[in-house]
Order: sequence, then structure tokens, then C-alpha cells
Amino acid sequence: MIDHPAFTVEPWALRETELQLDVLAQAGSVFALANGHIGLRGNLDEGEPNGLPGSYLNGFYEGRPLPYAEAGYGYPEAGQTIVNVTNGKIIRLLVDDEPFDVRFGECRSHERILDFRAGVLRREVDWRSPAGRAVKVSTVRLVSFVQRAVAAMLYEVEPLDSSTRLVVQSELVANEPMPDAPDDPRTGTSAVSPLRSEQASGRDTKVVLVHSTQVSGLRLAAGMDHIVEGPDGTETNPAEYGDDLGRVTITADVAPGERLRVVKFLAYGWSSQRSTAALRDQVAAALAEARHTGWEGLLAGQRSYLDDFWDRADVELDGDAELQQAVRFALFHALQAGARGERRAIAAKGLTGPGYNGHAFWDTETFVLPLLTYTIPDAARDALRWRHATLDLARERAKQLGLAGAAFPWRTIAGQECSSYWPAGTAAFHVNADIADAVGRYQAAAGDETFEQEAGLELLVETARLWRSLGHHDAEGRFRIDGVTGPDEYSAVADNNVYTNLMAQRNLLLAADAVERSAERAAEIGVDLEEAAGWRDAAAAVFVPYDETLQVHPQAEAFTEHQPWDFAHTGADQYPLLLHFPYFDLYRKQVVKQADLVLALHLRGDAFSDEDKARDFAYYESLTVRDSSLSACTQAVMAAEVGHLELAYDYFGEAALIDLDNLEHNTRDGLHIASLAGAWIVAVAGFGGMRDHNGALAFAPRLPERLNRLTFGLCVGGRRPKVEVNQHEARYALREGEPLEIAHYGETFKVTGTEPVTRTIQATQARDLRTQPRGRAPARRRPA
Ligand code: BGC
Repeated sequence: MIDHPAFTVEPWALRETELQLDVLAQAGSVFALANGHIGLRGNLDEGEPNGLPGSYLNGFYEGRPLPYAEAGYGYPEAGQTIVNVTNGKIIRLLVDDEPFDVRFGECRSHERILDFRAGVLRREVDWRSPAGRAVKVSTVRLVSFVQRAVAAMLYEVEPLDSSTRLVVQSELVANEPMPDAPDDPRTGTSAVSPLRSEQASGRDTKVVLVHSTQVSGLRLAAGMDHIVEGPDGTETNPAEYGDDLGRVTITADVAPGERLRVVKFLAYGWSSQRSTAALRDQVAAALAEARHTGWEGLLAGQRSYLDDFWDRADVELDGDAELQQAVRFALFHALQAGARGERRAIAAKGLTGPGYNGHAFWDTETFVLPLLTYTIPDAARDALRWRHATLDLARERAKQLGLAGAAFPWRTIAGQECSSYWPAGTAAFHVNADIADAVGRYQAAAGDETFEQEAGLELLVETARLWRSLGHHDAEGRFRIDGVTGPDEYSAVADNNVYTNLMAQRNLLLAADAVERSAERAAEIGVDLEEAAGWRDAAAAVFVPYDETLQVHPQAEAFTEHQPWDFAHTGADQYPLLLHFPYFDLYRKQVVKQADLVLALHLRGDAFSDEDKARDFAYYESLTVRDSSLSACTQAVMAAEVGHLELAYDYFGEAALIDLDNLEHNTRDGLHIASLAGAWIVAVAGFGGMRDHNGALAFAPRLPERLNRLTFGLCVGGRRPKVEVNQHEARYALREGEPLEIAHYGETFKVTGTEPVTRTIQATQARDLRTQPRGRAPARRRPA
């Protein structure tokens, strides 16, 4: 069964050539537009039918109680849920008295195109009303990367065969009704009508509505303004407004060959502090600015922002047109999730849907920030500054848990822990090391000293303190971290999770190095070399368990002694296992939801020998079911490193196509941003073989059979290396900046702006490996 819309394959756009009503909600995610601040799901302009409406503002949430049947000390009691804010997308149309609605009359053609270079969603509909009036409706929608508070729409209607009376109603709608959510823990819970009206105002073509939330105490303003062009006699009625509705109505009699053209500007603002009047005025100002820039100006700004992005970040793949498109789709959405977040979180679904309640997880630091660090470093910096802004909350949480330093939340919107399931929430302490790793990567790549002084150092120090207090030295002098949960959520509360221990080790060392580098600032925040020496001792003694009999690393101590999961008797319809088996049983058996030890092989590859990597990878391959979308990309990276190139290629397909093919059957709730960013990771770290341990850039590229050529660019401290790989050689060039030292299969050299360096690709010995649990192998990417 294919439950996704059919898209045509083309390099720079996603085109849907007909409207399928049964996958509307899914298409709403795929066609979402966002800039990291505002997110508009790809709902139809006329508001209905809609699979799942959605307009979001990053950080705008409502609070809700987290009830427990059996309460316990330290359980978070307040949850946070992203709010579907005032919908400004709605433009209704009446054609000779009949509502334009694709469910009625005849939809003769319907096309939607998400254009990755223009940064717009276009729609063209040829529709005949039940009474036989034919019109062409063309719309273009954008969420501006340049003016972050602004979105805009162009709405054009042309009668096709006779003069027609048209009425266009452009609206702002708050508290729109939501469909029931499916019964799946990954789906978000939505607050019903969470917005309380504070003020509505309007004049001429403009309306501003101000609302607030009851529990979280946030306030939001949404505004719209219009420019109308039509044949003589076109009339724009004065704006109407009430608590939850703003409306501007335009009437026109339009003949074939003529057109009614409406430009709608939308602006949003929100705050926890500012007054109703201040927010209303902020939005009015943003609208005035948008009007001043004009529709053409907004389009031009969008294009030039994206030209610049693609120039820096594009990944070219020759030999697989479908994957080329999927990778650009993935990059485009990762950009949309993070571009203008400006010190707010990047959620697991970005701003594309209500899944996971709009929460951010470790997904951001581990999967999204590597991409942003090397392509839009400022966005990576801002996401880390958001973490820094929540440091006091994390310090409080650590204190509550009886620990030192800072304990960042497993899932959150505003910084407070919102996970009500502590074995896979609070106990997943690795999120702290993941943040530290992202800080280390960003600092090494961007060389941003201001960030280090203002935020980076403190993040590293407080997370190092956490590890020092969470772990202890045992009788043999080993530094152990007991009773924590690693990335694999089918194991919990285990001793010495290898991933966690190795990432904590890196965290401790990054912090100690930063304290040495910035002694003055370190003194100001109350840390000295003595304390840092304690971190070094702990790091040097970090315990990494090993199973001598099987000659592999157990994911955590004793893991390899557990009973293997009975894959032979697990049906295809029993995945994801979390929806069909109790956690107690998953936890006591060998079954892996997502890369855990294998992620350690990637991110802490410097801690393993080549033989270890090959054996460990094969062992975990046979246990990993990929019930999380965060797994395929990591398995691809390690499959490529240990030489299973075709397997890596299959995983590449899965990571990149996760939403275009609705592989997890929940794209309706929002896109899987980490998996999409993971597609970039596979291209760069998998087939480009890039590693950045301790800030040194190393490559070991190697392509699967079907790819003839791969290129990607990076931003590294003002330098712009570009890597081009084919089946036989790799070429390293520098497009900008000072010479850069890199390694190719261990050979180190400098790349300068004058002369690209070409090196041959080393052959691989490994045979393909197909030992996944029954029915869980990735789909094969067949030859074209
Ligand atoms: C994964 C987590 C992830 C979360 C949000 C879960 O299914 O197991 O690792 O953080 O989804 O993407």
C-alpha cells in the first residue's frame, strides 16, 4: 500500500500533480512553509477541506497538567503544547454564489509546487463550479526568510469562459476546530480553543487580532493587510472583525481575459511580557514594512536568501534523480526549521505539525546542528544560545535531582522538563553530552570566541559538572555512569551505556580544554583548573564495557547477556514494537529501537578500532528495528565506513524519503526533521566520510555503485571548502578563505584557494551485509 501523494521527480521542486483528499494532512506537512519563527502548514487557501490545519509560532505554547496515577518525587507536573495560532492563510472564494471547494463541482486540474530555490508554494487550480462556471485560481505563498515576522500570499482568479461574479473573503481565524488526534503517543495533544481574545481592531484592508493563553500567559498578535487589483468596479469592503475572526471582503465582476489579484500580507508577533498595545503595534509595523517591500520585493528577498543558502549548502548527487530531489527537499526543510529561530528551540517536527507536542529533543543537537554548523553557522549558534538561555532552569532541575551543574530537559518548548516518562526522559542524561558535543563542534568550526565567552564555556562547564556528579569511581578506579538511558529507547536505566559514557568523556574534556583556554572568564563563572583537573581524571577513567566472549561492545553493561528478542514470531504489523509490546519486556531483551552503540561508533569513532567498528556494526545490525526515524542515517554512516556501501545507500534512501514516502505513517503530524537533516549527514559523513573529532576535518569518501558523483560545500571558520567525489577520486577545493588543513584517508595536507587537491579513493573489502531482524531490512534502492 502506498499512502502518499505521487510527486514528480525533478531537481529543484516538489510537484504534486493532482489533489488526493485522503492524504491531505500528510501533504500539509510536506508543503509546510516556515522560517524558524513562523510555520504555516500547507493547507488549502480556502480552509476546507483540511486534513489538519496548523499555523505555529516558535515558542508559543499552552501549559497543561501532567497527571500521574502514581506520583513520585521530581516528576514534572506541567506540560507544554504547541498552539495552533490564528490562521491567516484563509482566502475563501465565491464563484457566482457558489463556494470554491474542490470537493464539489469539477476539479479539472490541481497542481502544487514547493519551489526550493524561490522559497514559495505555488498552486494552480482549474475548477468548474456545480453550476458550470469555470475559473483558474493561482496562488503563491511564502514565509519570509528576510522579514521573519512576515508571510505573504498572492491570490489570483480568472474566469475561463464567461463573465463571473467573484467574492473573495480574506480571513484571520483564531481557535479553529481541530480534527481528533489518532491514538499514538507520538501525536501531539492539542488544547481546544486555547486562545482568549484580548483585542480586535481593523480599518480599510487591515485587521489585527490579539489573543493570549490562559496557563502559559503568552500573548500573540496576528495581522493582515491587502493590496487588491481588479477590473473596474472591483470593490474592497471595509474590514470586519470580532474576537476570533477578521475579514476583508472583495467583490468584482470579472470577464474572461481579466483577473482579480489580491496580495495578502500577514504578520505575527508574540511575547510573554509585552502589552496588548505593544504587540498590536509591532504587528502593524511589520505589516507596514511588508507593504513597503511589496510582493515583488518579498519574492526577490526570498530568492536571494535561498541563492546564498544553496551556494553554501547544496549537495549534488549524480545517478539518482529521486534522491537528489529528496536531499534538496530535506535541506530545504531543515533550513526552514532553523533559519530564523533566533534563540528559540528547533523542535523535532520543526514548525510543520503538532507531533510530539512541538517539543525539542536531543534531535536538534545531534542531527540538525551538524548540518546547520557547516552550512548556516549563525543558526547553529542561535539554537545553542537558546539552550544557554534555559541554563538556570537546567541548573534548578539538576538540583532537584540531587546533582551538580545543569540537567537539560529531555523534551521541552520553553526549557522545563516536559517528559512524564522518566525511564526514557529524565534518565536519558545523554542529551547533556549531546549539547556539549554540538557546542564543541560549533566552536571548532566557527571559531566564534564571543560565543565561547558568552555561552559556550558555561554550557560545557555546567554539563561537565553534571557528569562528574552523576558518575563515580569504583573500587577498580573506573569512572562509571550507572542507571541511565542511552539513545535506544528499547533499553532503559542501564549501567555504563557506551554511547553515554563516551559522550560524557568528550564533554568532560571539552569543558576542561575550554577552562584552560578562557581562564579569565572561567574565574568569573567560578571554575578553576583544579576542578577541571577532576574532570580530566574522570574522563581518563571512563569505563567502556566489552564482551570478551562475543568480541563486541555491549550497548550497556550486561546487554549482550540478555535474551534476544523473538524476531521470528514478531509480525510485520507489530512494528513499531512500542505500540504492541510492554516496555518491561522490550527493556529486558536484546532489541534495539535506534542506533545507540552504532551512534557511538560514528560520533566517537576516535575511541574504536576499525575491527571493533566492523564487528560491532554487524552485531547491532541484527538487533536494530528502526522504530525511530533517527536510526537510518546513523546506520548509513557506519555501513559506509565499514564498507557496506549498498546497504548504506539503502539507508540513505530511507532517511531522505522518510516523509515524501510517509515511511513512518505519521508524516501528517509533521516532518521528521532529524531524519531529513540526517540525509545531509549521510551524504557528508557517510559517502563523504567526513569526521570532525577534536575539530580536525578528515574525509574518507567512497560512493555506492549507482552514484557517479557527489559534491558538497562546507563553512569552516570563514573558509568554504568544497568536496567533489566520483568513483575513483576525490577533489578538495577551497572557494574562500585561508588555507585549510584536512585529511584524506589519514594523509594530511593543506587545501588552498589556488590549487584543488585530488586524491584517489581507497577500495573497500567488505561484502554487503543483510542480517537485519526479519522484515526490517531497508527497502533496496534499485538501479535506475
Ligand atoms: C526517539 C527519540 C527522539 C524522539 C523525537 C523518539 O521516537 O526514540 O530518540 O528524540 O523520537 O524525535
